[in-house]
Amino acid sequence: MSGSRRFFSTPIFKMRFVARPNRFLVHGRAPGRPRIEAFLPNPGRLRELLLPGATLYVTESPDPGATRKTRFTAVAVERDGAPVLLHTHATNAVARRLLEQRRVPTLEHAAIARAEAPVGRSRFDFLLRDAEGDLYLEVKSCTLFGNGVAMFPDAVTERGRRHLLELAELARDGVRAAVLFVVHTPNVRWFMPDYHTDLAFSRTLLDVRDRVRILPVSVTWRDDLTLAREARLLEIPWAHIDREARDSGAYLLLLELEDAARIEVGALGTVSFRRGHYVYVGSAMANLAARMARHLRPHKTRHWHIDYLRPRAARVEALAVRASSRLECDLAHALGRVLEPGPRGFGCTDCACATHLFFSAAPPLDRRDVHDILERFRMRQPQIVCGSGSSPS
Ligand SMILES: [Zn+2]
Repeated sequence: MSGSRRFFSTPIFKMRFVARPNRFLVHGRAPGRPRIEAFLPNPGRLRELLLPGATLYVTESPDPGATRKTRFTAVAVERDGAPVLLHTHATNAVARRLLEQRRVPTLEHAAIARAEAPVGRSRFDFLLRDAEGDLYLEVKSCTLFGNGVAMFPDAVTERGRRHLLELAELARDGVRAAVLFVVHTPNVRWFMPDYHTDLAFSRTLLDVRDRVRILPVSVTWRDDLTLAREARLLEIPWAHIDREARDSGAYLLLLELEDAARIEVGALGTVSFRRGHYVYVGSAMANLAARMARHLRPHKTRHWHIDYLRPRAARVEALAVRASSRLECDLAHALGRVLEPGPRGFGCTDCACATHLFFSAAPPLDRRDVHDILERFRMRQPQIVCGSGSSPS
């Protein structure tokens, strides 16, 4: 493999992920080295990737004057035995490589006219040119995947939504426009906007899809962080997305109690809670975002069992699991298989479940088994029409 084919010139070593004290910094450990602090060039949440003990691929600056802050950079993380690129700036170099090697499906005949191409007040990653004329291309890096499905974004991106609208406006004026989602795993068949996390971005993607070409391309990274030859266009199940990307469905409320407590919970009476983490499953088949926002506010009237526990929690986080159908009890059942059940009858006055509250000593989002459940429910595969082939597992 020649040097020009590499994206990272310095030697790469691996370290175990320990913590992420802020968005752009990770701590880790590697054999024979003191505790390492590395720059993380990725603003995403990456919760399902940065689990305790995860393997990070780290580069070390050859610059002898490199400071503690600039010496190490975490460029990738291992998942399912293969690296997933974290270095968002390198994604544009990957896109350039794919374009130059004519490996982006439907853009095989386009040449790069310029990078960082300005249009009015905006700037897009590439201006391409082919026999039909100009085409503006914006590149996004996608690291969120599971269950055969890749999703973007993994955190709300108003900037990403604005890019879609600007590209759609260009297209309205007769200029071609496209978005290339570089999906850093080969283990997927479908691409969807992450409507659980960013419903506005997802609805905008649906709105502009007839004007802006949406190109999710799956790539494969080798262990030495070179790119395999394969680049594959993923399927986008638009009808499925249009049906599911609504403000309805289930949600998880993650709560942390810093101390044990005895709490009066409405008709359940006084209930003892251990210190630790709790996961509550609820649903709202309309106005899901408003329901989650309500739970995040500490002071309010007590209507549901969870309203008695909520004010005692030191930290609260809500995760949407949007769907057109009722998933709440299935989700509770799945969580009950990996987490300890909470008080009997909690949150299920209207269903036959034992409880909708679960306990975990460790933070739930530090657990692979909890992410597996989230992925199974959030990244539901579209109904496959008979004869269209089998789905990857
Ligand atoms: Zn239930």
